[in-house]
Amino acid sequence: MYEDEKLVCEDCGKEFVFTAGEQEFYAEKGLVNKPKRCPECRKLRRKQHRRSRKMYDAVCSKCGAQTQVPFKPVPGREVYCKECFKEVETSSAPQQSEESANTAE
Ligand SMILES: [Zn+2]
Ligand SMILES: [Zn+2]
Repeated sequence: MYEDEKLVCEDCGKEFVFTAGEQEFYAEKGLVNKPKRCPECRKLRRKQHRRSRKMYDAVCSKCGAQTQVPFKPVPGREVYCKECFKEVETSSAPQQSEESANTAE
């Protein structure tokens, strides 16, 4: 039989309950380690993990600057640094190009 167990979260230091049901679930999965983090921190970490995507080094096709892109650069495909990407994006947007024509020096 399992009993609810109080554990302390490694991340926030708060106490959380490792319930009997969870313990059973862990045992079924063959997990020997108890959870180190409370459910909130676990959720948070999962979210952060998703956000920290792998970045690839690339060279901007326009200005030649070193930059990083969230996808694997393909030879022959244009890659822009942040600055150039902004330029390319605004110049291709019709409502923006009208505005920049008015403010041209
Ligand atoms: Zn926590
Ligand atoms: Zn650039």
